[in-house]
Amino acid sequence: MSETTDNKRQWHPNFVKYTEFIVNHKNYKGLYFERNNDGQVKWVITGKSENGLKRRDWWDTQCKKFGIKIEAGCYAKVALEVHPTKKHTCQICGKELSLEYVYPNKRTIASFKKEFNVSILPFSKDIFQIVKELAKTDDDIEKVKRIFKIPTSAKITKQNIESYLQKYFVNAFAKGLLSPGAMSNSPDRFDGYHSDGACCRHESDKGRHKDNLQRYGQDRRVYENWADGDWKMADRLMSLFRKNGISADHIGPISLGFCHRPKFHPLSKAENSAKNNRMSLNDVQVLLDDEKTEEVVSWHSKYLWDILKNKVRTDKEAVKLSDLMRKNLHHILIVFSMIDEKGYGKFLLQFLNPSYSFFDYKFEEFDPKTGLYKNAIAKKLEGKNQQNNIDRYYRVAFEKLQEYKTIENRKANLWEDKTIDTELEKLFQFLQTKKLEQAKSQLENVINNLAQLNAKNW
Ligand SMILES: [Zn+2]
Repeated sequence: MSETTDNKRQWHPNFVKYTEFIVNHKNYKGLYFERNNDGQVKWVITGKSENGLKRRDWWDTQCKKFGIKIEAGCYAKVALEVHPTKKHTCQICGKELSLEYVYPNKRTIASFKKEFNVSILPFSKDIFQIVKELAKTDDDIEKVKRIFKIPTSAKITKQNIESYLQKYFVNAFAKGLLSPGAMSNSPDRFDGYHSDGACCRHESDKGRHKDNLQRYGQDRRVYENWADGDWKMADRLMSLFRKNGISADHIGPISLGFCHRPKFHPLSKAENSAKNNRMSLNDVQVLLDDEKTEEVVSWHSKYLWDILKNKVRTDKEAVKLSDLMRKNLHHILIVFSMIDEKGYGKFLLQFLNPSYSFFDYKFEEFDPKTGLYKNAIAKKLEGKNQQNNIDRYYRVAFEKLQEYKTIENRKANLWEDKTIDTELEKLFQFLQTKKLEQAKSQLENVINNLAQLNAKNW
């Protein structure tokens, strides 16, 4: 990641807070930094520049202070010593990850999946959480020993397994097995760590990156499946972009609750990672304009969108709306998965759109540079496969919902509001007594309440 990308890239609000906390912390007293015209900390300085050398001097002094010999790898050690919380906030997604070697790498994740026969193991769970969840019996502890190549003779019990792992693996920087939540990068970054966390890392640590992409892929599918809009036409158009080697984004990201509609704009690589599914003021204006002639937002997310859409005046506010809509959609998907979990999945079928699968599309005079085309030609699909396609569409929609719920931290970041819980209980009552019309309006009620709740953070 170049210096300019890092400084110019849209910072997650959590990261802004993090930089302020760090530069003002006494542990970093005397470490050189500047602010730009907006007052934002210039987090990155090229190591070889004059100011970069000032930073290096400071880190060298810290090494002496902590008795760390100046040699390869010394800055990684000292950056961890100096860090006041050992928790790093990701510049891109705002997630907080530990700086210690507590996250299993790709190979370790694969061994856990194999030994414990689990299908999903989110990369951002640390080794202690994983062991706590999976290692319940003596037999399980033997499995953990195999994963970490610990001799079978080692006396490990449920009681001491965590301290054992801490001492011999985490504290020992067990590089082949575990990795930290952010890679060391002294003295370029102020805190000595790459700004993007392992959650969003692209260049290095390909193993975990891949796992992260798979996770994003799963999330993407659940957004698509539960969004309104002609998904078939959207998919066809999207694959045209892909065939032309161009990455494209929805105007109105589906991850925020907008329709999966056949309207994209092509992105450069830098733009793609920087935007991270957030809207600009211009995006919001395009959506408001499009909304005059077509539905742009899915029914479930329309409540929040309608409350806030006319309040957006700046790019910053567009990002704020994006974050609130994403959180709101998270809540909605959790509500859906709770309904499914309680055995009322059938009730949710009415919110899916299988009929779009009856058509296929060709786009005349498609221009990948602009994403525009002259005509979309629809072809009705007939034949025996249609029912199969619909069955598969339904099955995938529910599978993705289940996966969404199981994936990390789904319980965290949930609403903390008694009213919502009470309204949800009412919904389940209606479902249980098969009052389906009432259940439908009660679901709308719940979602409306969620929108009101999330809008309070505007
Ligand atoms: Zn991240």
